[in-house]
Amino acid sequence: MTAKDEMTFDSLPAGPRDGVGRHAVVVGGGLAGITTALVLAERGWAVTLAEARPRLGGRATSYRRGELTVDNGQHVFLRCCTAYRGLLARLGAGPETGLTHLQQKLDIPLKSAVDATTTRLRRNRMPAPLHLALSLGGYRLLPLRDRARLAGPALALRFTDPADPDVDQQGFGPFLRKHGQSKAAVDRLWSVISTATLNINADDASLALAAKVFRTGLLEHADGSDLGYAKVPLGQIHDELARKALGAAGVTVLDSTKVEPLAAGNDLSVTVTDRSGQRTRLNADAVILAVPHDAAATLLPQPHPTGFSRLGHSPILNIHVRYDRPVMDEPFLAAVDSPAQWIFDRTAASGVGGPPGSYLAITVSAADELADTPTRDLAVLFEAELGRLLPKARDARVEEIFVTREQHATFRQERGSAALRPGPRTAVPGVYLAGAWTATGWPDTMESAVRSGINAARLVVDQTTGEG
Ligand SMILES: Cc1cc2nc3c(=O)[nH]c(=O)nc-3n(C[C@H](O)[C@H](O)[C@H](O)COP(=O)(O)OP(=O)(O)OC[C@H]3O[C@@H](n4cnc5c(N)ncnc54)[C@H](O)[C@@H]3O)c2cc1C
Repeated sequence: MTAKDEMTFDSLPAGPRDGVGRHAVVVGGGLAGITTALVLAERGWAVTLAEARPRLGGRATSYRRGELTVDNGQHVFLRCCTAYRGLLARLGAGPETGLTHLQQKLDIPLKSAVDATTTRLRRNRMPAPLHLALSLGGYRLLPLRDRARLAGPALALRFTDPADPDVDQQGFGPFLRKHGQSKAAVDRLWSVISTATLNINADDASLALAAKVFRTGLLEHADGSDLGYAKVPLGQIHDELARKALGAAGVTVLDSTKVEPLAAGNDLSVTVTDRSGQRTRLNADAVILAVPHDAAATLLPQPHPTGFSRLGHSPILNIHVRYDRPVMDEPFLAAVDSPAQWIFDRTAASGVGGPPGSYLAITVSAADELADTPTRDLAVLFEAELGRLLPKARDARVEEIFVTREQHATFRQERGSAALRPGPRTAVPGVYLAGAWTATGWPDTMESAVRSGINAARLVVDQTTGEG
């Protein structure tokens, strides 16, 4: 991570509470909206946050299913996600609280479902990029000749500018092949990381976003990719703790409240409909649309350029499996040669409470081919995959399998997508954009969502104090 890249939650320049007397309406209670609301409230603004659903957290949240609290999808973050980690700290959910975990040193166990070969991707104490050299030299999922060629693309990625529009027009897969990578190297190493972070297959993925991931996460700083995840349901952090922090900051949270498309005209106002159907008009000095790109396109007063609606969507599936006993020895596993890409043991984090039963969540990113497969077929497929990958699962009894499908998990992070991502400014005075899909330079992630919220709040502050 370069110094320029580092963004902390309170990186707005310290200044007076210059928003006093002004009202902002933030639309959308995902991480982007929560961040925008907190930052503006801290600058003295009166803030109303309107969220259509009953819960905050947007695409990173939880729901109840019997005794389980289920995340809509397993989420991980990296040490280089400075803005998201700052939000966690602000909400009282940093690793020191026990609500989240951040590895001291990157350590990912990997296993092939075909031949049961196992290996680990872990760093040592050497500075980047030597921190991974030993691990990649012993990467047993690849033959020696493939391991010897890994340095080529790694070096080339270090000199690939993620902000260069020409780079964004290229695919990651062709780049890897140009640098001598075999199909095995793409499938068994590079894609394990790129598919999980970009939610698209390597051939279609934007080289610019792949370069961002590998440079910032793995190649520039030795500790950038130490892996983090929530040890409690996401909703406990992104809904319950977020509400507490917003309340303490003086933000009015209206959940189950849908914002209607903004009307064109000189008056900046927002009409909301609550769960009882009651419509209310809120006058505002600033409106921040922290909603997905397709929702932003319908909410902006028309006519307005909405080229960003071409960003499209990529699905993620999570297959949730409950066993009658523990079946994993590690908190998570990355699988290769399998549709089960990442497997997390969520037993302790979900309310099941531990043995005798256990609960696993399997993540399938870039799930275009499986997105509409019936649950019963997915259950057969993934029970068999878990049997291939986890010896203890072969004798265990499956008590329940269910699936969460997020058809719009992220935008399609394909070549050419960077040009479609707008900044926080719109053509309508007083109306701003936030959301993980906006132009943060990061993939559609929690980090991007928080950064977008900070960017939008910064522009609101600058424009109302005459600096923007
Ligand atoms: C299954 C899955 C797995 C993922 N895994 C990871 C991961 O491991 N790591 C990672 O960093 N990221 C991951 N992501 C991506 C991450 O969740 C998103 O990038 C991030 O949460 C987006 O936040 P946001 O605030 O920009 O948007 P959203 O979370 O989409 O929030 C937008 C909010 O706006 C609300 N809204 C929309 N229209 C209106 C309206 N008219 N009125 C009021 N409210 C409205 C919506 O209800 C929603 O709550 C994953 C996503 C999914 C779905």
